[in-house]
Amino acid sequence: MVEQVSLYRAPTTEADADALADWLSDRIGATVTVRDRFCSLYADDSLAEEFAETRVLSPHDRETGNTMLGIVRYEERALDDPERAGGVLYDGLGVQKRLGTRLPEDERGLDHAHIILTSRVLGTWGDHDGRWHKRVNVLGQPALVSVPGLYEAPAKPEAYYKEKQKHAMLSGGAPPREVLEEQVEGDFLVEDDPRTTDVLNGYVLQAVHYLDTGEAFCEQEHCRLANPHRQPGVIEAQLREPEFCERHTSLYGTD
Ligand SMILES: [Zn+2]
Repeated sequence: MVEQVSLYRAPTTEADADALADWLSDRIGATVTVRDRFCSLYADDSLAEEFAETRVLSPHDRETGNTMLGIVRYEERALDDPERAGGVLYDGLGVQKRLGTRLPEDERGLDHAHIILTSRVLGTWGDHDGRWHKRVNVLGQPALVSVPGLYEAPAKPEAYYKEKQKHAMLSGGAPPREVLEEQVEGDFLVEDDPRTTDVLNGYVLQAVHYLDTGEAFCEQEHCRLANPHRQPGVIEAQLREPEFCERHTSLYGTD
């Protein structure tokens, strides 16, 4: 059983690690502690190059990695100033493996869950369709939770993409949130959405649940442990009542 959870802060402020830890503490028996950003604690001289090794090169190419000097330099800057990194997709399992080797040796047991909030966009390779799929979280030890993954991985309503395209042709930029909310039916999250932390609660709990039970996701679409592929489903699972399905209410319910 997980007895201790270490939650590592995100570089961005939309994901509030302290609030996530409070929410989690109310629902599990383990002790939850917030730690500083993982890479600020455990980065070493080879980490930048290791991130470069996990870069996805093309959406349909399983091979990863570009360790040319310029790329490694970019990754060094991204580690120093994570807010500036962006536009790159990384192999989530590759990143997980490399960060896992940096966990303190006496904390690697499955009684101590490490959950890393990150501003990197992560993907996993789909053997069934031969392409990379963006992910909100990568379960395991350590677990990774991608803040931009929350906005990018679950698909937005079709009308959103149409509206975005229309706006780009007229003004060259992304449409403001008010325009999108007015024109697009169905709820979805946009970058820096004020609901980010609340929505991430369920994804952080999934990491603990997986270590405890080996169960990845819940089949019930209204449960916080579900894994919806579309944004309206994410809102439904994470923000609407009830919080959990019956089975998971018995484990994590607060009433
Ligand atoms: Zn459930």
